[in-house]
Amino acid sequence: MTDITADGQTGSRAEAGRNPAAPGAARTVASAITPAVVARLAKGVTATGEPELVHTTAPLTGERLASLPQSTPADVEVAYQLARRAQQAWGALPVRRRAAVLLRFHDLLLRRQDEVLDLIQAETGKARLHAFEEVMAAAMAARHYGRKAPSYLRDRRRSGAIPVLTRAVEARRAKGVVGQISPWNYPLELSVGDALPAFVAGNAVVNKPDTQTALTALWARELLIEAGLPADCWQIVIGDGPVIGPAVVEHADYVSFTGSTRTGRQVAQQAAGRLVGASLELGGKNAMLVLADADVEKAVEGAVRACFSSAGQLCISIERLFVHRSVADRFLARFAERTCALRLGGGLAYGSDMGSLVSERQLETVTRHIEEAVKAGATVVAGGRARPDLGPLFHEPTILDGVTDAMAVCAEETFGPVVSIYRFDTEDQAVAAANATPYGLNSSVWTKDLRRGRALAARLHTGTVNVNEAYAAAYGSVASPMGGMGDSGLGRRHGAEGILRYTEAQTIATQTVLPLAPSMGLDDVRFAALMTTGLKAMKAFRLK
Ligand code: NAD
Repeated sequence: MTDITADGQTGSRAEAGRNPAAPGAARTVASAITPAVVARLAKGVTATGEPELVHTTAPLTGERLASLPQSTPADVEVAYQLARRAQQAWGALPVRRRAAVLLRFHDLLLRRQDEVLDLIQAETGKARLHAFEEVMAAAMAARHYGRKAPSYLRDRRRSGAIPVLTRAVEARRAKGVVGQISPWNYPLELSVGDALPAFVAGNAVVNKPDTQTALTALWARELLIEAGLPADCWQIVIGDGPVIGPAVVEHADYVSFTGSTRTGRQVAQQAAGRLVGASLELGGKNAMLVLADADVEKAVEGAVRACFSSAGQLCISIERLFVHRSVADRFLARFAERTCALRLGGGLAYGSDMGSLVSERQLETVTRHIEEAVKAGATVVAGGRARPDLGPLFHEPTILDGVTDAMAVCAEETFGPVVSIYRFDTEDQAVAAANATPYGLNSSVWTKDLRRGRALAARLHTGTVNVNEAYAAAYGSVASPMGGMGDSGLGRRHGAEGILRYTEAQTIATQTVLPLAPSMGLDDVRFAALMTTGLKAMKAFRLK
C-alpha cells in the first residue's frame, strides 16, 4: 500500500492516560448463566451416546462458563438425517405460514432480549450495547424476511420462447438442508440472523457455531422453536472446526460460511468439489475516509464506533483511517481524547463503552501487531496496553500513527481495537490507498457534501459503503445486499440475494398449439425461414 504518512508528523507523542473502568455491575456471569441454564441449552446439541465434553470460559473473568457435549462426524450425519426428514413437511407449508414464525420470533426476541444479552456478553466479553446491536440486527432480519419472503419467493411469469404459444414461469425451490458454519464474534446475528432467510425459504439448517459461543446459538434455536419452527429443522452440532466444519460441508445442499478468509477458501474448495453452492462472508481491512469538509466532531464519534465496537472484533469495523491533511491534526487530537475516555468493563449491564477480547489468540494478535509496529517506528497515540487489572483479556482501544507498508498492522486484519491513521492530500490518493488491499468488505466516507460522498463511495472497492456512518447504516439496511468483494467473500446476505441464495431457480415452460420444431407439413427449410421471420418480428416488436 502507498505510504501516505511521510509528512514528518509522526514524531513520538506523550502516551495517553489509562482508559477508565466502567462502573461495576451487580450481576455477574456466574449469577446469570447458571448450571441449570447451561444444562437446559446443552440439550439442543445433536450429540449421541456418551459425548465427550468441551469446556468454555467466560472472557470477562477467565472462569469456566460451560461444559457442552461435542458432536462427532457421525452425529453430523444424524443431524442431516433428522433435518432432511423435518424439511419435507416444513418446505411444503405455504410461505406465509413460515413467514409468520419469523414475525413471532421478532417479538419474542425483543421481549426476552435480556436473556440473550447476558449470554452474548458471557460468551464474547463484549459490552452490552454492542451485544444489543446483535438483537437489533436479528430483529431487523426477522421483520424483513417475515414480511417480504412471500414476494421474494413467489412464482414469476417470464416471457416465453414464442409469445402466446409458450408460457414460462420462474419458481423458487428450497435447496433442502443448508450447512451453516458461524464464527464467535456476533453469535446471535451470525447464527439465527443468517438462518432466518434459509428457514423461510423452506430449508432446514445444520449449524456449527463456534464452540465458544454455542450457548447463544442454542438459545436462539429454543426461541425460534417457541415461535413455531419444528425442532428438527434446526440442528446444532458442536466440535473442532477442522473436524466438524468439513463434516457439515460434506452433507450440505448449500453452505453458508462466515469466518476468516483462510478457512473460507477451504470451505469453498470442499463445496466446489461437491458441486454445491456456497456463500462466504469473510475478513476485511476496512477503511474510513475523512474528507476536508467533514464535520470533524461527528467524524470522531463515528470513528469511535467504527473502530472499537465489540472491541474491533467486527468484520466490518475500521482498521485504516485516512484523514485529509487539512483536518488531520484537529481530528486526531479529538479522536485520541475520545478514545482515551472510553470506559472499559464487562459487567452484565449497560454503561461500558468497550468490553474484553474473546480469547488469548485475539489478545496475542493485537499485542503482536502493536509491538511490531512500535518497534519499527510507529507511534501509539492512544491506548496500546493490555488491561489485566480489568480482566484477563482486556486491551485498550489503540490508535497508531506512522504505520508503514512493512508493518503487519498495515495490511493484515487485526480483528481487534487497533486503528492506524494515514494522512492524504487528494481524494484520488485516498481512494487508491483505501483500495490497495485484497479485501473489499466495508468502508466509510465522511463529508458534508452527500452527493460527493456517494460519488466517492462508488469508487471504493467494497461491498458496502457508509456515508457519514461507520457500518450500521449499510448493515441495518436489510433490504439491500451486504457482503464482500475480493478476499472478503462470495455472495451476499440480506435483501433478495440473501434469501434467493438458499433456493434453486426452476423454470416451468408450457408449450401450446405448436411445438418448437418443424410440424404441420413444414420441412426443415420452411421451418427455419418461418422462425427467422419470427425472430426478426420479435425484435421489431421490442420483445425482451
Ligand atoms: P475462523 O475461520 O477461524 O472460524 C469460523 C468458523 O469456521 C468456526 O465455526 C470454526 O470452528 C470453523 N472452522 C474452522 N476450521 C474449519 C474448516 N477447516 N472447515 C470448516 N469450518 C471450519 O474465523 P474466526 O476467527 O472464528 O472469526 C473471525 C473471522 O471471521 C474474521 O476474519 C472476521 O473478519 C470474519 N467475519 C466475517 C464476517 C462477514 O460477514 N464478512 C462476519 C464475522 C466475522
